[in-house]
Amino acid sequence: MFEKILIANRGEIALRVIRAAKEMGIQTVAVHSTADSDAMHVRMADEAICIGPPSSNKSYLSIPAIISACEVTGAQAIHPGYGFLSENSKFVQIIEDHDLKFIGPTAQHIQIMGDKITAKETMRELGVPCVPGSPGEVDTLELANQIAEEIGYPIIIKATAGGGGRGMKVAASKSEMSDAFTTARSEANSNFGNPAVYLEKYLGTPRHIEIQVFGDGAGNAVYLGERDCSLQRRHQKVFEEAPGPTIDTVVRQNIGKVCAEAVASINYAGAGTIEFLYENGEFYFIEMNTRLQVEHPITEAIYGVDLVKEQIRVAAGLPMQLTQEKLKVNGHAIEVRINAEKLPNFSPCPGKITQFHAPGGLGVRLDSAIYDGYIIPPYYDSLIAKLIVHAEDRPAALSRLKRALGELIVDGVDTTIPLFNSLLGEEDIIKGNYNIHWLESWLDKS
Ligand code: ADP
Repeated sequence: MFEKILIANRGEIALRVIRAAKEMGIQTVAVHSTADSDAMHVRMADEAICIGPPSSNKSYLSIPAIISACEVTGAQAIHPGYGFLSENSKFVQIIEDHDLKFIGPTAQHIQIMGDKITAKETMRELGVPCVPGSPGEVDTLELANQIAEEIGYPIIIKATAGGGGRGMKVAASKSEMSDAFTTARSEANSNFGNPAVYLEKYLGTPRHIEIQVFGDGAGNAVYLGERDCSLQRRHQKVFEEAPGPTIDTVVRQNIGKVCAEAVASINYAGAGTIEFLYENGEFYFIEMNTRLQVEHPITEAIYGVDLVKEQIRVAAGLPMQLTQEKLKVNGHAIEVRINAEKLPNFSPCPGKITQFHAPGGLGVRLDSAIYDGYIIPPYYDSLIAKLIVHAEDRPAALSRLKRALGELIVDGVDTTIPLFNSLLGEEDIIKGNYNIHWLESWLDKS
């Protein structure tokens, strides 16, 4: 086992990894920008190293600074968290070249899944159901029109190098194709430095269902059920639950098995998430994330596992402790993402937290790196806390969420807490009756 690991991240996810490492008796190294000298992850780690100025490009995304921090502190492995360098295959290659260990999959797997066309091709070959679409890149309008006729409108045009919900254009009919296609390509080029786009059938009212998988890198893998993350704003998840309100045991087993077998057959190592759109009982693969997800705690809650400890164990070359027979769903879990944002426009609201009180009690988990007097810097993501509740069933989880939100106090900055209080009063939310467009149309109405 490693004696010391470095966490190449900040905020709640850095703390999450530090907690797992501490319980495993592993020393931790935090890295931070000059804007984060007072951050909680810096205080909680055994050692901390400043790696640059506030701008992420010069600190949390600086590969030389992070590798140097490892060399200076003697850390043997790097946990990337999510975001920043977590899906950067070049980073993984450099880590390996320095005889360090990356806590995550291989550079090759990250690369395959990072290119959406290659990812889709690979998944199709592995027997994972995909959205009908172009076989690969579509580089001319003629070809786009021809394929669109075959698949049928509406069509979504997506950037192969896209991510974070950006780089997608919808064409409802042939008359919209020319504009949508040209804009999609030029936006893909300016946003991601790669103009390549591909076509997919646009699904009207799907849910976003994702399957958590975990592999040992040696041909064994398990699935840990699904998460329903359909409540999204601008393709960003805001509320997630597990199990999915519309997924039963048989459906879970069938899709779970397909996913676990797919990743096992490529010797995938560590945690991964296979994302699907789900409509009329059919799953359609959209992408695979080769890292820990923000919403992983709801899976941990219902399966009673610690995914981060398992990631560290597998990266250290120890056998995976998860076995499919032992993984049984227990109850229901919900996560809400609390952002420092001002409603109704969700504009970022950095600043000083004048008062903070965390909720507690049975089945309540708050993953956060804020504290009384903390100043939220303006340079990073606006997520300040994840409130996760776990209870025996969905109605009990909703009641617990309402109760826990009532206890949570974050003063001094605007937050998205009022949004969740309102959502919990909505009939559709209470019934689990929503799809990926529900939240945006509700926000438009309210
Ligand atoms: P990203 O990597 O940018 O997050 P995804 O491929 O995961 O992109 O898609 C993000 C979101 O875009 C999905 O959750 C869904 O809301 C929407 N989307 C993607 N593909 C389709 C499709 N074929 N039909 C309808 N909506 C889609």
